Amino acid sequence: MKTKNKVLIKRIDEYDLEKILAFFKRSLLHKDSVLPRLVNKTILLKPNLLGAYAPERAVTTHPVILEAVIQILQTIDCKILIGDSPGGALNYDLVLEKCGIQELASKYNVEIVNLNKYKVLNTNNSGYSIAYTQLYEEVDYIINLAKYKTHSLMQFTGAVKNLYGLVPGLKKADYHREYPNSQKFAQFLTKLYETVKGKVLFSVIDGIVGMEGKGPSGGNPRNFGYLFVSECPSSLDYVAASMMGFKALDIDLIRLTMQADGVLPSRIASNFLWQENIIPNVDIGVVKLRNRILNKIPNSISTIFQAFFWYKPVITDRCKKCNICFNSCPVNAIKIDDEGNLKIDDKLCIRCLCCHEFCPHQAIEIRKSSFANKIIPQANN
Ligand code: SF4
Ligand code: SF4
Repeated sequence: MKTKNKVLIKRIDEYDLEKILAFFKRSLLHKDSVLPRLVNKTILLKPNLLGAYAPERAVTTHPVILEAVIQILQTIDCKILIGDSPGGALNYDLVLEKCGIQELASKYNVEIVNLNKYKVLNTNNSGYSIAYTQLYEEVDYIINLAKYKTHSLMQFTGAVKNLYGLVPGLKKADYHREYPNSQKFAQFLTKLYETVKGKVLFSVIDGIVGMEGKGPSGGNPRNFGYLFVSECPSSLDYVAASMMGFKALDIDLIRLTMQADGVLPSRIASNFLWQENIIPNVDIGVVKLRNRILNKIPNSISTIFQAFFWYKPVITDRCKKCNICFNSCPVNAIKIDDEGNLKIDDKLCIRCLCCHEFCPHQAIEIRKSSFANKIIPQANN
């Protein structure tokens, strides 16, 4: 890789270990130039482990992606860790088992760490208080292994958003309370990104099978057939989101992190003519349209507009009463009645959509106003 802003893209239709290994050896972990730097170092593999989902659900990073990286790293002397910080009330052991990570770690004798079990460190970046796991200080490098998905709140989730896992789980709820809408949350995430990006050696976005529609957990898996790799997480997200059909600079988090990295779209190099290979008909639905419309409305009337253009999570009869959402809500807006039924108090709800993100049964729908329905008839969430 010649420049930090280079994004390498490979078409791979299935989780074929040999093909992924060959791509990573060429693009990510060169035998002569990169691997020698990693000898005797401690390297954290940071997958997206959003919840207890089987790999075919396309919510979490596929274990074969980690397997390829581990096989290459185990050709040198280094310490490999796999870790994430489960949010809300998730059972980490169950997440590891369902996602295929426990089996993988046992097979290769790799240590799994829970980022929530470490001390919480705090720093300040331009007035933003940033809490992150002490493990960050104990590792030399991070290999960021993200998943290619739509995101109900942030529109798109890729490499940068995956680094939010360096924030311990309990602090995540505080941040959702503090930065309750996507713009404010993107500003905070950009400051977090600036704080932690120094140790990110490479980022990968697993888009062999990703998610469209109501991501990051309730959407539909789609065989996109792409692997994306870069040293620069913001460039990687720009290209990957563009290929999904987003106007990537309209996504706050991508625009702000590119500014933070000093990246201009025209300076992003690639081995692949991605501009000519935009993936057709990806269901990026209401999140894209809502943000595009709101961005065009002058500030003076946007508050009035948003009063008519609302969305809210609603618990449906698919609910299995597992209480994961109840324990994950940062503002305690979910109430349980005497019979164990759950209901969201709209007055308390800050629309962070964490409950929608964490519900393992897709039991929480996002309802929108009739005005929003008229403007966005094709959006199915
Ligand atoms: S809505 Fe989902 S997460 Fe909440 S209790 Fe029901 S099944 Fe569990
Ligand atoms: S009910 Fe859901 S969307 Fe509302 S604040 Fe709680 S977790 Fe966020």
